[in-house]
Amino acid sequence: MMISDMTTAQIEHRIAQVKQQLTRLGAMHPGSLSEQYNVCGKPGCRCKDLKNPQKHGPYHQLSFTWRGQGGTRFVRAERLAEMRQKLANYKRFRELSEEWVDLTLELEQVERERSR
Ligand SMILES: [Zn+2]
Repeated sequence: MMISDMTTAQIEHRIAQVKQQLTRLGAMHPGSLSEQYNVCGKPGCRCKDLKNPQKHGPYHQLSFTWRGQGGTRFVRAERLAEMRQKLANYKRFRELSEEWVDLTLELEQVERERSR
């Protein structure tokens, strides 16, 4: 349903749902993961094989920007699932926050039209 088709009661109900969902979010972290493959300096290593080079990796790199500061770090394999969950929680947090603001602006508009 488009927000603009909702009644005041529906908007308020949806805001209550959004608040509930926000309180259930667990630990969060901004950013995204990418996979990196490296070549090492060891002579004769498989990563430099002329016919069939097999690079080392994947290494999981987390990149994020927060308050104007950029950062990257590697995430160990055993902590990958936990970090993916935190990234998903952060994404959901942003979506819900934006929806809350959308709904609040819509409510404001409806109330303004009513009091005209
Ligand atoms: Zn190597």
